[in-house]
Amino acid sequence: MTTVAHWIDGKPAASTGTGEQPVLDPSTGETITHVALGSAEDVDRAVASAVAAAETWSQMSLGKRASVLFAFRQLLVGATDELAALVSREHGKVLSDARGEIARGLEVVEFACGVPQLLQGEFSDGAATGIDVLSSREPLGVVAGITPFNFPVMVPLWMSPVAIAAGNAFVLKPSERDPSASLFLADLWSRAGLPDGVFSVVQGDRVVVDALLHHPDVEAVSFVGSTPVARYVHATASAHGKRVQALGGAKNHGVVLADADLDDAAEQLTAAAFGAAGERCMALSVAVVEESVADALVVRLAERARAVRVAPGSTPGADMGPVITAAAKRRIEGLVTSAQEQGATLVVDGRGTVVPGHEGGFFVGPTLVDHVRPEHDVYREEVFGPVLDVVRVPDLDAAIELVNANPYGNGTALFTASGEAARRFRRRVKVGMVGINVPIPVPVAWHSFGGWKDSLFGESHVYGPEGVRFYTRGKVVTQRWPHRDRPAAPASFHFSGDAQK
Ligand code: NAD
Repeated sequence: MTTVAHWIDGKPAASTGTGEQPVLDPSTGETITHVALGSAEDVDRAVASAVAAAETWSQMSLGKRASVLFAFRQLLVGATDELAALVSREHGKVLSDARGEIARGLEVVEFACGVPQLLQGEFSDGAATGIDVLSSREPLGVVAGITPFNFPVMVPLWMSPVAIAAGNAFVLKPSERDPSASLFLADLWSRAGLPDGVFSVVQGDRVVVDALLHHPDVEAVSFVGSTPVARYVHATASAHGKRVQALGGAKNHGVVLADADLDDAAEQLTAAAFGAAGERCMALSVAVVEESVADALVVRLAERARAVRVAPGSTPGADMGPVITAAAKRRIEGLVTSAQEQGATLVVDGRGTVVPGHEGGFFVGPTLVDHVRPEHDVYREEVFGPVLDVVRVPDLDAAIELVNANPYGNGTALFTASGEAARRFRRRVKVGMVGINVPIPVPVAWHSFGGWKDSLFGESHVYGPEGVRFYTRGKVVTQRWPHRDRPAAPASFHFSGDAQK
């Protein structure tokens, strides 16, 4: 059995770390391969190569950099089916959803192909007499990305294409649960003509994360994962003088008003709650429903939850695969049990779901819990599994109050036929990404992605215009070219706006 190891200096590299851990097929519980747990020395090697690579890559013309991005895009399109199968095998999500995450990552690559325009500067001709001013953005050097298990392709592609297009070298620390996609991407970058060392991968756990956060040559850190780790990464990287964006967990509310099309809302909520077995940071895990239509909505949701086809991700026609580990299954089922014990009503119970022929798999069926209250553990915690809570509220204002009282602020959606209600919700809700009759409002690549409150630490959202700013710093040049045949004007001894006029 092989071990998934690193990619350093443009080629596969063995680990100097002492440990490794199994990578499991979540639909059987069997070991597929092992992943190396890298060491601080591995990080040193990757960063040293990246420092040298950033030096030359940043000096390459924008046109040359764009041509590598275009080639990478083409290779990624051609490899979609193979990569989707790899993702589905290690993560467990259904193939169509794995293809979908590649498509969303591809969109960011396409955005980054426009780097010549994205990095266009500003110029003030004659800002003062004989003086011109120009502003430009320059790359940072070596930047690191630390990514979660739930999107092993999309999240690295939220970061790396923009960082690389801007002229940086990028070091990726993928999740140890589904590490193989990272090496697949590294190989594509290399085949696209990216110089050695501009994209590297170091596999591992906290040891590698800490080595990156402390490394003096890592200028910036992008992190996506759970809130406690995001908070730690933000604090540690900041304390070491790095620029950092750390995206955390979520609890996303889908608010359904009495005037909404209930069939449509139920359909959208079902897919958004149970797609990818609820292991999406933008999954809608709470339906906040106006009391007058709650019974009617719950009937519709229950009908649809029972119809979800749960099977291994590679099964044609499957809607939903297993969750990532046996521990995740236990935790999710425990939260469902606690909801029942704390007074909520279990309408559809996915605990104990067994898929014939896959008895060792980590399956949890779609679960619908009604009459959930904010003090219930199933509401307070990020479940990150196929569990939809229903919280009943009297009206829109109460719904907004509930959403705003939640510590997370990643995404939310409103289902309504009222423009006035939509406008009120959009303006008052304290959440970074808002959908109006759109259940999972992940922004397209030329806008930026990010939550508020405990869903993001740092000022900057990822990809889009904010991604470009995050991976670059501004430089302003003020220049004066005295006429060589005329006497020079006397220099001023005082600092004054008048001096330049
Ligand atoms: P995680 O926080 O366990 O792991 C994320 C990364 O951090 C991994 O690379 C992991 O190896 C590393 N890590 C884990 N524990 C660490 C520690 N103690 N110290 C240093 N590094 C550590 O998250 P996960 O389980 O892989 O992913 C699921 C979580 O990610 C959920 O909370 C989900 O909401 C969140 N997520 C958020 C977004 C977003 O955009 N806000 C997107 C995807 C996932």
